[in-house]
Amino acid sequence: MSGAVGIQAGRVCPGCGREESVPIVWGMPAGDSFELAERGLVSLGGCLRDPEGDPVLECRACGLAWGREGDPTADEQALADLLRVTWPTVLRALGAGWRWEDPGPEDGFRWFVSGEPAQLSIGVDAVGFVLARPLVAWSPRQDVVPSGGLRFTREQLQWFPAEVTAEAEAIATGVRRSFRWCRTCRRPAPPEAFDRTERMCTACDEAYAHVAG
Ligand SMILES: [Zn+2]
Ligand SMILES: [Zn+2]
Repeated sequence: MSGAVGIQAGRVCPGCGREESVPIVWGMPAGDSFELAERGLVSLGGCLRDPEGDPVLECRACGLAWGREGDPTADEQALADLLRVTWPTVLRALGAGWRWEDPGPEDGFRWFVSGEPAQLSIGVDAVGFVLARPLVAWSPRQDVVPSGGLRFTREQLQWFPAEVTAEAEAIATGVRRSFRWCRTCRRPAPPEAFDRTERMCTACDEAYAHVAG
């Protein structure tokens, strides 16, 4: 989370249950840390470090300092719980950055998506889980949920994670190949969020259309 400022999405304070925690900057504050702290976007931890490891977040609601680098977000922990494995198992096999698609499609699965822009989604149900391309707004999920090969059982994730990883990477690689690079913000965008005529992402198109004319 290094470099992140502001309230960290999905990090729910174990003290008060609120989602209002900001990163702690440890050591001598440098650069704009003071200004960020004044605006409440980070917390200054000071120079007295704990040899056991410092907490990385401070809750703005109750003041609790908590969390460690690499902890799962609430959504990531929820995914691990649904898959009935530990978070490290999910992390090793499927990577991180999982966000719950809420509300997801009404298809019996609980869907999570990972990647920025989204590159992989996982749907969990009573039987196991499926890996699929991320849902795009204009495409019904039935088109992207595979019927056969990409269905896995929880046991496969537990005992044959390499197969799951290979399938996950194959999907994510294919999705990344479809990305176009925006010539304005110079970030990748999925095809549905890219204007081919303007050769920029739709976000830039909306933000700068009146400036560029
Ligand atoms: Zn709290
Ligand atoms: Zn752009």
